[in-house]
Amino acid sequence: MIIKPKVRGFVCVTAHPGGCAAHVDEWISYVKSRGSIPHGPRKALVIGASTGYGLASRISAAFGSGAATLGIFFERPSEDGRTATPGWYNSIGFTKAARAAGLYAKNVNGDAFSDEIKAQALETIRNDIGQVDLVVYSLASPRRTHPRTGAVHKSVLKPVGSAYTNKTVDTDKGIVSSVTIEPANEQEIADTVAVMGGEDWEMWMNTLADAGLLAPGAQSVAYSYIGPAVTWAIYKNGTIGLAKNDLERAAKNIDSLLRARVGGKAFISVNKGLVTQASSAIPVVPLYISILFKIMKARGLHEGCIEQMQRLFATQMYAAAGPRFDEAGRIRLDDLELRPEVQASVARIWPDVTTENLATLTDIAGYRSEFLKLFGFGMAGIDYAAEAEPHVAML
Ligand code: NAD
Repeated sequence: MIIKPKVRGFVCVTAHPGGCAAHVDEWISYVKSRGSIPHGPRKALVIGASTGYGLASRISAAFGSGAATLGIFFERPSEDGRTATPGWYNSIGFTKAARAAGLYAKNVNGDAFSDEIKAQALETIRNDIGQVDLVVYSLASPRRTHPRTGAVHKSVLKPVGSAYTNKTVDTDKGIVSSVTIEPANEQEIADTVAVMGGEDWEMWMNTLADAGLLAPGAQSVAYSYIGPAVTWAIYKNGTIGLAKNDLERAAKNIDSLLRARVGGKAFISVNKGLVTQASSAIPVVPLYISILFKIMKARGLHEGCIEQMQRLFATQMYAAAGPRFDEAGRIRLDDLELRPEVQASVARIWPDVTTENLATLTDIAGYRSEFLKLFGFGMAGIDYAAEAEPHVAML
């Protein structure tokens, strides 16, 4: 079939298999161009490995340090007349490239919150690679079926306490408007913490530790975001921020567990705001990211997922001097984003942005091309007018 982008609001319902593979190759080339990461991970379990920060972590581990990787993700295969999700094609592209380079790579596609998928992952580690020395927890999900209670929790992106009004952009139509979001109720807050908080990460780490599958010195990392004051009501101080606080609580427990059991450690890395499927769903944030990209590119400070994760491994987690933590024990990869001069420029532009000047005051073009790349579109060297085979089996 001829596969073209079909954008519906903040999602694209098609993905291009060859384009996704080319995108993965671009990230692999970047990591290789940075040279090897000495003393990096040898055997990594990446939970949420098919897109965004998780995929970038997997590529950095494999192509930066020659790590064996087991990837866990929840992606939909193709159906008649319908392409698979991009993470499906990305994972096939990654696995082919890793195996061609002589690296172990296996995948488990299914619900990481479930006991079944955890058991499948543990079995694969036990049989194939023995133990893991790195666990990356990079899930972004709208819902979680709790494995003990069977309850289905749905996360919401809402402010807490009072309604929040700010500018937002429809990135597809290029329309800037004002949005008011009513505050979450107690149930919605609890549900969001249940989905995006740290309980599931703790379940994974306890299960792995109890099964003896963590190598001596094993590390685990999960990702968070803080961002600037203009987004705090919807992010840092909103429902998702409360879930991230719970992730930080879990990091402390997991850190104690790893120290006691295998002499390892666990922490949070606070990453930069970037275009991913998860972030494009948050009101206000895409407008902020479009302005941020304009400013960071102009100053030569721009990074994408792969630059961030390569930097995390090379200059923090596996640096000879070890990671540098902030006062709350977190790694900060949002250092460039939060530079005062960058944020002062964002704050200057923010009030002036309108539908009419969106293209000049912000990097909405860069936002859109990054968004389309997530689905394998706009990649050089791909003939999008040619027939493409959407049905590709998972490896
Ligand atoms: P993403 O949407 O690109 O990736 C989410 C991953 O989770 C995919 O691999 C998907 O398959 C997997 N997944 C979702 N539900 C699953 C389930 N039930 N079982 C198994 N796998 C499942 O998201 P992302 O933006 O890379 O986010 C990853 C983490 O990074 C999140 O914790 C997010 O909050 C954090 N983060 C994101 C940003 C940003 O700007 N995008 C910034 C800082 C931190």
